[in-house]
Amino acid sequence: MKLLRHGQAGAERPGLVHGDGSVRDLTGVVPDIAGAVLSDAGLAAIRAVDADVLPMVPPGTRLGPCVGGTGKFICIGLNYSDHAAETGAKVPPEPIIFMKATSAIVGPNDPIVIPRGSVKTDWEVELAVIIGTRAKYVSEADALKHVAGYAVTNDVSERAFQTERSGQWTKGKSCDNFGQLGPWLVTRDEVADPQNLDMWLTLNGQTMQKGSTRTMVYGVAHLVSYLSQFFTLHPGDVISTGTPPGVGLGMKPQRFLKAGEVVELGIAGLGQQRQVVIADA
Ligand code: ZN
Repeated sequence: MKLLRHGQAGAERPGLVHGDGSVRDLTGVVPDIAGAVLSDAGLAAIRAVDADVLPMVPPGTRLGPCVGGTGKFICIGLNYSDHAAETGAKVPPEPIIFMKATSAIVGPNDPIVIPRGSVKTDWEVELAVIIGTRAKYVSEADALKHVAGYAVTNDVSERAFQTERSGQWTKGKSCDNFGQLGPWLVTRDEVADPQNLDMWLTLNGQTMQKGSTRTMVYGVAHLVSYLSQFFTLHPGDVISTGTPPGVGLGMKPQRFLKAGEVVELGIAGLGQQRQVVIADA
């Protein structure tokens, strides 16, 4: 299933993509694409609904982030061997974890907003893992059972805030509109192998990133298990699993976003996003 949230920011309603490609409304069927709805039983209940009778959502309706109630947005740094190389960093001996503020999360086609004072706003196409059930001290063998599904995310990053302004990476990763998530959550039964997904990102139509989750250093099962050794993962938590090569930071000369530019990105089977870059007022 492809589950989504549609409507105005902050007032999104649940929905799904029907087999005929139309978006259907799940209002009244489930409260949100969040919480217990993300469990295997919750997803099975939606699957049992006859989508033909669900109301159509008008084409062009805004899509919000594909999951609600996200308590943690956990990101993994330098998790592609080829991306680590382009930034001049070594592959870390254990996953590098950092947090993105959940207030950064927006819909898949919402603009990228360059924050005040920024000159180094950059892009990162990533596979997002959405947790479906509580996970604590889970083994790698059991880890994927706790995953509701997968989505595309853009881990938008301000490199000067991230690495030149001292301290942790958080402030360079958490600006408003720095976490486009969607268009939809694809349930894990429809993703045969999360470690074999092609991914891409273009800037103004020109390819910047082209990669595959095959070159991920620490795979999804390992990451879910690993993180759950330190804290409990809850339904709706998002793990952004790192980016392949081709970010602006790694280019010679470096290349960062300007107002008016257009970023498009996608992952095979998970859909795509399109963002216009604007400057914050
Ligand atoms: Zn990232």
